[in-house]
Amino acid sequence: MKTDIDRKLRDFVGARTAKTFSEVLGIETVGELLRHYPRRYLKKGELTPFDELEVGDQATVNGKVKKVTVRSLDSKQEIRPDEVNKFRRHKTITKVVVTDGRNDLELAFFNQPWLANKLTPGTAALFWGEVTKFRDILQLKGPGTEIIDEEDLNEAEIERRAKPFRPLYPATAKLPTATIERSLKIVLDNLEELEDPIPELIRKNEKLLGLRDALQKIHLPETEKDIAEAQKRFRFEEALVMQTILAQRRAVTDALKAIPRERTTGGLLDDFDARLPFKLTAGQAEVCDEIFADIARLHPMHRLLQGEVGSGKTVVALRAMLSVVDAGGQAVLLAPTEVLATQHHKTLTKMLGELAEQGMLGGAERATRVGLLTGSLNAAARRTAMLDAASGAAGIVVGTHALLEDKVQFADLGLVVVDEQHRFGVEQRAALSTKSGENTPHVLVMTATPIPRTVAMTVFGDLSVSTLTELPAGRSPIKSSVVPAKEKPAWLERAWERVREEVQKGHQAYVVCPRIGDDVKNATDEEGEFASGAEDEESGAKGKPRPAISVLQVADVLAEVLPDLRQAVLHGRLPADEKDAVMTKFAAGETDVLIATTVIEVGVDVPNASTMVVMDADRFGISQLHQLRGRVGRGKVPGLCLLVTDGWPGSKSRERLDAVASTTDGFELSRIDLENRREGDVLGVAQSGRRTSLKLLSVLRDEEVIYAARHVAHSIVSVDPSLAEYPALKAFVAETLESEAAEYLEKT
Ligand code: ADP
Ligand code: MG
Repeated sequence: MKTDIDRKLRDFVGARTAKTFSEVLGIETVGELLRHYPRRYLKKGELTPFDELEVGDQATVNGKVKKVTVRSLDSKQEIRPDEVNKFRRHKTITKVVVTDGRNDLELAFFNQPWLANKLTPGTAALFWGEVTKFRDILQLKGPGTEIIDEEDLNEAEIERRAKPFRPLYPATAKLPTATIERSLKIVLDNLEELEDPIPELIRKNEKLLGLRDALQKIHLPETEKDIAEAQKRFRFEEALVMQTILAQRRAVTDALKAIPRERTTGGLLDDFDARLPFKLTAGQAEVCDEIFADIARLHPMHRLLQGEVGSGKTVVALRAMLSVVDAGGQAVLLAPTEVLATQHHKTLTKMLGELAEQGMLGGAERATRVGLLTGSLNAAARRTAMLDAASGAAGIVVGTHALLEDKVQFADLGLVVVDEQHRFGVEQRAALSTKSGENTPHVLVMTATPIPRTVAMTVFGDLSVSTLTELPAGRSPIKSSVVPAKEKPAWLERAWERVREEVQKGHQAYVVCPRIGDDVKNATDEEGEFASGAEDEESGAKGKPRPAISVLQVADVLAEVLPDLRQAVLHGRLPADEKDAVMTKFAAGETDVLIATTVIEVGVDVPNASTMVVMDADRFGISQLHQLRGRVGRGKVPGLCLLVTDGWPGSKSRERLDAVASTTDGFELSRIDLENRREGDVLGVAQSGRRTSLKLLSVLRDEEVIYAARHVAHSIVSVDPSLAEYPALKAFVAETLESEAAEYLEKT
């Protein structure tokens, strides 16, 4: 289907302007321009002839400047136009007399002396503001101005510019908002064929404007109501397209086949349960049963397991994996970092004990192997791990996400567990199917960062959610405090003393910094999303905030402050074997203090670590701090988390830290976090670029719209999965997918 929407912009606005659109905004087609919505609107009054102005009106007039005077408010002296620049920083009043030829109107501008050089006598312009009267002279209060060039002095152009709502587009010097507006006007005036992607019946039901009407109203609104109605329609449109894509994907997933992995008794799982040194919490047992039921089905499971830091997700995953191994399949556990993958490999091997020693001396009669596959393995280790995966000797393989892209083959991959990564998108899932022939493995995604249902729907399409709310009994509480390093320097000294005391009691500590610090020019974080804590107005000097404190700086400081403690440094740019060695020593208790970046953020489990000091804590996000803090208080020892900051009481960043210090409820913190973050961050930039197709819709705010659209999308897709009856919607969906795919390719 070819409509005007697909036509090149240059057919309408000329080659030169079209080229600028392409360069500045990446806009090539008419359709793309039409969906480049105004960021906000400039509100004016109604265009009114001078002799009809009434006091109290919000009005716009079209007139010529008759006279301009600038006065200093301090000296009351008049300032000559050629001197106004000297008075930029002074208190001034600029009085402009405007005329329509017969009547005059007076405008006053404060502290904008340079206007005298713009609004010179004879200049034609629009002026708007509230009409007032002073000593019988009509005035405009809080006036706005827009100069009209000679060539634009015709009625139509003045009418257009005097519209009570002028769209303001995200603009640059090369492509000012007026050019965008003018181009849209041309396009809207000349557009013929326009197919509405929202079917008529649905428009009626949902009380939505038609496409043409809505485009007109969003770009050239007459009233506030126009804007609201148009936005409502486009929000629904965005939701509908998104939900249609998801519904179609779901239809595809529903048609996918998986090998049912029935729970068997008398296998590894039972042996494992018998060895388990603790009792499963009720929540863990329940979630396991949900998973067992899911993976016994003919279609692939797609389940999200949300659970507070330390709630024991690993054991749930391990039981699920063992159940699959018992049923003859293999399972994979994917971790976001190498450190975590290595750690998981150790944990699983340890928990399984002889059950993981298949074919080895001392291995149990019924046993399997746990393989590790990370990017930094040496060739020999890698080959063994690959062989074990391909032959099926390894029932469980642990690795980083790279594992999916690799040439790794499995004998019979039945389950993929993705740890600490709720952004496991469509592309990754697509990579899975290639690993297991015509059958798709079951997928379990685990995260400690709870995400709102609408976000989950958006990111995952459709999935089942399990939640672990309770922590295993006997867990020690974590106490958190804010350490205001600038306000109370003594507290920071005290913090280091606390670290020493803990170590003297036989415990260990983490010191976390936002930055590595090994190269000044590229002084960025490695894995974190950092809220710019340096935004604090109170932090003193305006301009450049000081760079965040780094691992290497702190290592230098601590070498002096705590010279008697055994210290080590860990960050992402260390060679993999070194990282591994550092982690191993720390886990073995041979290091007292680990100074690290956020590489330790997730999953690292050293129960003897009792204390965490987070430097420049305001540079981390709320959820991230909560994650980090989850590294302590994992054993019998009570945890202590000290959040060091330069932020002053009452500042934004202090408020966030106080929130973190005041509760250990991750769900509550995640809510606070989401409210403070931008949409794109929530969805994840790499989440197939959905940012581009969601312009007006907010997955956090517009829950109702999303549910309504989802309902509609489901009813359409269930009857007509290929959208044969809905060509315009189909075309729009295809276009959206195309731009997302394009974006995805750019990112990889
Ligand atoms: P997370 O959900 O953050 O990934 P883990 O799976 O790492 O948490 O579990 C944290 C710690 O709790 C581990 O040391 C684990 O062995 C322990 N654990 C898990 N389940 C229980 C339980 N039911 N009772 C006692 N300890 C448990
Ligand atoms: Mg974990």
